[in-house]
Amino acid sequence: MAVQTAESTSNPSNAATSANPSGSAVDLGPAAALSCRECGHKVPLGPVFACEECFGPLEIAYDFSGYDTEELRKRIEAGPANIWRYAPLLPVPADVATKPNINPGWTKLVKADNLARELGVTGGLYVKDDSGNPTHSFKDRVVAQAIEAARAFGFTTLSCSSTGNLAGAVGAAAARAGFRSCVFIPHDLEQGKVVMAAVYGGELVGIEGNYDDVNRFCSELIGDPAGEGWGFVNVNLRPYYAEGSKTLAYEICEQLGWRLPDQIVVPIASGSQLTKIDKGLKELIELGLVEDKPYKIFGAQAEGCSPVSTAYKAGHDVVRPQKPNTIAKSLAIGNPADGPYVLDIARRTGGAVEDVTDEQVVDAIKLLARTEGIFAETAGGVTVGVTKKLIENGVLDPSLTTVVLNTGDGLKTLDAVAGTGLTATIRPNLDSFREAGLA
Ligand SMILES: *Cc1c(COP(=O)(O)O)cnc(C)c1O
Ligand SMILES: [Zn+2]
Repeated sequence: MAVQTAESTSNPSNAATSANPSGSAVDLGPAAALSCRECGHKVPLGPVFACEECFGPLEIAYDFSGYDTEELRKRIEAGPANIWRYAPLLPVPADVATKPNINPGWTKLVKADNLARELGVTGGLYVKDDSGNPTHSFKDRVVAQAIEAARAFGFTTLSCSSTGNLAGAVGAAAARAGFRSCVFIPHDLEQGKVVMAAVYGGELVGIEGNYDDVNRFCSELIGDPAGEGWGFVNVNLRPYYAEGSKTLAYEICEQLGWRLPDQIVVPIASGSQLTKIDKGLKELIELGLVEDKPYKIFGAQAEGCSPVSTAYKAGHDVVRPQKPNTIAKSLAIGNPADGPYVLDIARRTGGAVEDVTDEQVVDAIKLLARTEGIFAETAGGVTVGVTKKLIENGVLDPSLTTVVLNTGDGLKTLDAVAGTGLTATIRPNLDSFREAGLA
């Protein structure tokens, strides 16, 4: 186990670093250090997120040596039915399971045979339904990670910039773990997201602007004395936060009987989730927990916020920021931090990045609901819609095992399907029932 001294700095002008209030040594299990994704420079574990050499993003480097494959498999299978069954592969203290945490994960992997028939998929189609998490989106996974890092670093206030779901996940996790929370969202989000974020009793601040404005504001707050001692889950705790998405990859493979899917379709907001799903799959191969074979990762965006898909189709390596305008608000990040890495992964694995219109998003929400009884939020409509389009265009191979992510719950984005409603209104008698043609 690596024991490192957390880095601390008193230089508030450097937005890449922030103070570690405890200043004490931290032990985050197999997490050995932070490593720059661009230049490989290593720094001790701490609440830092950008490389001091090249400003590249920092991510967790592990020491998995010493794991015996079969022992590890047994340990995971005997673990709890939540993300902590994978604690040996995450940056968390050894006693994480005993702390108050919302314990997300181990959501259903639904074999979607009806949807498969409708889309012509013969190789097996699955929906990983992350609406089953405590605050009904995949964000509980990343927040559950970040809050343990926040605890280890001695933060007492949790914060974030959010497109909606993250604010709710932070509010709930903070409430349960006894942190203060103060989170920031664009002022014009769906009511379901606003209420979900406010109900846990933390502070919720609407910013007059879009997500990219909210994010810029938070970066400023981190460098200011006003934000001192705050753990921003997706900024100064981002390296820890991001690792939570690996658990989606772990669960999908374990639920398939320790098998890799051939194809996986993932929605893109900042792109973090997609890059960490790839990291998780690579780790399982490296650890010998699954067979080493190729897999393809596909990215999904809404046309009204498709900077990554646009760059992919143009053959570019850089992503040009875009002003979002789509009903898929949880994915509406016009300047996605992990965009270039998503492009890399889609190209390296033989996948693709595609986008669909808002109308196709609504159709896909209804398609998934009608065929599988799963009510997805707009982000789920994006992934299902993109899956359909990629099959129609001959990009996604219908003869291969395919997993589609549903990352959020339709109850939070009711407006998207506001056109759906009563079949008929009748008087409470049989004549009226017959008149309405329902008999
Ligand atoms: C945040 C979010 C995503 C993806 O987020 P990334 O920033 O790409 O990791 C996907 N679906 C939903 C519903 C989300 O809230
Ligand atoms: Zn670097």
